[in-house]
Amino acid sequence: MALGTAMDWRGGLDAGDLSAEALVRQSLERIRSRDGQLHAVLATDASRSLALAREADRRLREGERTPVLGLPVVLKDNLAWTGLPATCGSRMLEGHQAAYDATVVSRLLAAGAIPVAKANMDEFAMGSSGEYSAFGPTLNPWDPARVPGGSSSGPIVAVAAGYAPLALGSDTGGSVRLPASFCNVTALRPTYGVLSRYGLTAMASSLDQVGPVGTTAADVAAALQVMAGPDPRDSTSVDLPRTGALFPLQPADLKGKRIGLPVEYWGPGLAPEVREVLEAALDQLAALGADLVEVSLPHTRYAIDTYYLVCTSEVSSNLSRFDGVRYGYRAPDQGLDLADLISETRDRGFGPEAKRRILLGTFCLSRGWYEAFYLRALQARTLITRNFQEAFRSVDLLATPVSPVTAFPLGAKTGDPLSMYLADVFTVTTSLAAVPCLSVPAGFAGGLPVGLQLIAPALADVALLKAAHAFQLATAHHLTTPPLPS
Ligand code: GLN
Repeated sequence: MALGTAMDWRGGLDAGDLSAEALVRQSLERIRSRDGQLHAVLATDASRSLALAREADRRLREGERTPVLGLPVVLKDNLAWTGLPATCGSRMLEGHQAAYDATVVSRLLAAGAIPVAKANMDEFAMGSSGEYSAFGPTLNPWDPARVPGGSSSGPIVAVAAGYAPLALGSDTGGSVRLPASFCNVTALRPTYGVLSRYGLTAMASSLDQVGPVGTTAADVAAALQVMAGPDPRDSTSVDLPRTGALFPLQPADLKGKRIGLPVEYWGPGLAPEVREVLEAALDQLAALGADLVEVSLPHTRYAIDTYYLVCTSEVSSNLSRFDGVRYGYRAPDQGLDLADLISETRDRGFGPEAKRRILLGTFCLSRGWYEAFYLRALQARTLITRNFQEAFRSVDLLATPVSPVTAFPLGAKTGDPLSMYLADVFTVTTSLAAVPCLSVPAGFAGGLPVGLQLIAPALADVALLKAAHAFQLATAHHLTTPPLPS
């Protein structure tokens, strides 16, 4: 079986030419033969996945149809799937098993998708390269000497390397879009609230979103359809208008659509070889009839500072629950009192990036500094959000690079946290503004993938996916697969 898109496989399953069991066996076999090199996967439960596959085959034989029935899916290890490890890439949760299903997981299961693996990630979703997992880095299938991007390194590589046609990552400041750009897959960050965060281990709660990943926008849309919608267990969840139009996804007619190019994103910081690829993609959008117009998002220059103040503040609060008392790792108890046991546990359990953020965030929220840092960051966040609202008064979509560079070599940024943070320069703004955005494959520079970011107004996720679908019907970059060990 070729790699295939989820929608190709959908057709085969519905026609009875393919079985879910065969697809799941293929997934497990590819993980077995390829993951020794790539290290995208942290855990599998083959017998459970095969039992779910046989159940999906029974439902298919009985004539049931859903957008994802019988399709294998890989889950980032910060999403709960009952009984499987949920380590979040951290020693702190080594050996911890989920006691319930995340809402997105239970909705996928109800629709008949089959989880086949829990996937590697930067510790607690902090990172841009996939190198901050306590269990070792994930490698880029296009060049194993390079990073795949993070923090959803495992889910993205799982799709890029053909382990599964679909995966779920999470995106706080770019964590599905950046690796999608580095590995040539399609990944969506929905409008904040469209996907429930129940069962997604919190990093920065006002920014975290689950992000569906696939080969195409149509595949991503199919997964989104079965997961979207309000959840009583997540008070920030919202209803997505026009969810019915997600499957089967029809392409947008781009004729006369206005696509804004924010000048702040297309400046001199962009590597020339990346610019060349992206300009060809813009020409393609113009050939489809879109009007490309310059716009400005003037507060973009505050985005990285704002994001890393808001994010670390929320991290310091969210990660306070890891105390070695209730669950997860506990330091050896050598007659320590409770306070020392907690601090010893946190010292040994968290990696350097988690500690850095807890310290920064605690400082930002501390008395005397709160107004100077956290409160100002919230004010800047409002200005950044207003920039987008203003831009969307005159354009339907925005188009930007996902990253100023292609996948960088392993180790290139691990010694310099600030340069790692700067990798997110084009992705954190939309997270702060809570608007939907996606990364689509746009071509190759020096043999490495380059992603184009498309951005839509809040709750226009369907229109965004339709526009990406139109682009993908006119291009074939997303169908190019990496050289893989057989
Ligand atoms: N790289 C960004 C960070 O480290 C984004 C991470 C994410 O989206 N989870 O915070």
